[in-house]
This record gives sequence, C-alpha cells and structure tokens, in this order.
Amino acid sequence: MTVHATTGQPTDTPAEEFFTVSIHQSEVDRIARWVANHPDCETGGNLFGFWTHGRAPAVQLTLGPGPGADHQLTAFFQDVDHLRTHGRRAQELYGLQHIGDWHSHHRLGLAEPSGGDASTTLRTLQTNGFERFVIFIANISDEPRDRGWRRRREFTGLVRLNAFLFERGRSTFRRGRFLVLPEESPIAHSAAQQGITEPYAPGSVRVRLPLASRTPTQSASHAQGWYSRPAGTEFLRAVDTACRQQFTDCRILVRSDDGILRYEFATRKSDWEMVFPAAFPHEPAELIRDGKRFKPIEAGRTPTPDDFCRQILESVHSSESGGPSLGPPDHGTPSDQDLLPREDLPEEEERRDDLD
Ligand SMILES: [Zn+2]
Repeated sequence: MTVHATTGQPTDTPAEEFFTVSIHQSEVDRIARWVANHPDCETGGNLFGFWTHGRAPAVQLTLGPGPGADHQLTAFFQDVDHLRTHGRRAQELYGLQHIGDWHSHHRLGLAEPSGGDASTTLRTLQTNGFERFVIFIANISDEPRDRGWRRRREFTGLVRLNAFLFERGRSTFRRGRFLVLPEESPIAHSAAQQGITEPYAPGSVRVRLPLASRTPTQSASHAQGWYSRPAGTEFLRAVDTACRQQFTDCRILVRSDDGILRYEFATRKSDWEMVFPAAFPHEPAELIRDGKRFKPIEAGRTPTPDDFCRQILESVHSSESGGPSLGPPDHGTPSDQDLLPREDLPEEEERRDDLD
C-alpha cells in the first residue's frame, strides 16, 4: 500500500489564523507508523527543527516514544531519558531545537489538544521561556471498508494529523496546515545513521493532513491541464461516476508542480491508482496496483469514457480474479510485535496528558 499525504480538510477558522508547518514526507510517515503501532492507546514523541523568518515551525526530525514511555488510554508520558539524550544529540550534531511535541488521541475522537494538553503546553512555554511551541495531534479513523477486513493482520486505519501552535501570551491555539516536503529529511536520514531515530522505510500507513495552499502561480499552471478543458472535465467526471459505482475510496489528486493527475480507488483486495500524465490523452494513463505499476491504459486520440472505463474494469477484475499477471500483494507483513501495544512503565514521567 502506498502512502498518501493527501487533500486538505475544510475548516471554519479564518485563513489568517492558520500557520504553516513544513515537514518532510519521511517524518509524516514515521509519526503515522508510531501511531499505528499503538492503535488503542496514546503514544507520542517530540519534534525538532527551527523557526522560519515568518515564525513558522520547520520540522527536521521527529522522535518517537522512548522504550520507557508510558502509553495509557488517555495519557502519554514520554521517556524523559530518551528525550533528553536524543534531544541533546540532535542539538549537538545538527543545531536543532525542540520546537514541539506530538501525540496520538488514537480513536478517542478528539482531533485537537485537550484542555489538559493546552494547559501543559502553556506551562511549558512559561517554564522554558519559549515564545512558541507546536503540537501535533494524531487520530485514527477506520473507514467503512476496513471494518471486518483485517485478513492481512495489518493496520488498515487512516491516520489523521493536525498541527496547533501555542504562543506565549495567547490563551488559544492556532491551527496549522502542512507543507509536506518530498522524501526523506536529510537530517533525519543522518540522525537514523547515528541511532537517534529509526531508519526510514517509506510508510505503509495511510495519512491525511490539512495541506497549505500552493502559490497562485502553481495553481494557474495546473489549471491549464487537460482535465481543466471542457472535454477533459467531462471525461474525468464520467470516469469518476463509473468508478464510484464499482469501487470505494474514489478520489482525485492533482500534483500542482507537474500537472499529473492521480485518481485513487480501492477494491476489497487492493488499492489502485490511475495516473494521468500532463500530456494525456497523447500519452497513456498508467494503472497502479498497491503502489506498483500494473499496466498502461491507452485512451486513443479522442478518448471516450466508456472505452476507457471498460479497460480499467477489465484490468482490475482480471487481475483480482487471479489471472497470470497478478503479482503478490505489495503489502508488508508486520510482525506481531509491531501490532501489539507495548506496556512499558517508566519510573520518570515527563508530562501528563489528561483528557478532560
Ligand atoms: Zn492529548
């Protein structure tokens, strides 16, 4: 299964109140994996980076729960030695600061800091003389198709991540949007080699987070894609309608920098994508199964949605009914250890996270 750093969520906070937090895809994946490893209790860790000229947090390195962390249903206590040791090395080697913390509210249904989180954070600002501190809250949602569908014994939920900025002298937090930088953070890559964080394996956990809007020039350029012309829009709408009758989790994603459009959908067996190049229909769309190229779909010079959808349906059905072209699913098989929450109890407690 591929990772999806995906579409923004609408929210009613005024736009000027939002802040932007930049973070590499690798660190989003790491957090998602840690959250998935503790699906039924809180887990958490720490964010290291720096602040930009615009006072926006730039996360370079994430720390997960230490071996002595305490994971409770409604509280998480970081392993203080873990934070102290690794935080000091992140500072000495890379000049990073401890700019925030993250923790999971798993399936508790609270997608923002609790009253307890807020007062703990404001106290942190006071005690340390920090001007600002960022908090990520993760939640797990199980999509309808995941219910009763755990035959792979792997985490099938969706991790949602939200960011909140606390500032000294301000009693409320601001909501953040993510600017996700590509691939692995170079600092985190080095830090993994130093044993400060875990080695990065591109994630198998689906993540959704509110994205910062792109610059106007980028929006203007992708508005000129084939799909923004009337015939293209109509084609795409017809494909979407046909797919929604057959598949679940149908979703369109546009990459603004290169005009590539991806259409995701799922069956009970696999996650699929159609990738439309900017030059579509002059270049074929690509059908992807579970993150692996499956086959190109030629659309012809003047594609009709009927023909196109027929090719898609035939390809999906023939591959999933066990045809010879079917390779093994690309899903990892996490060990039992990965799936079971650990119950280590520490002597020391860093901070309390009471949910009200
Ligand atoms: Zn909390």
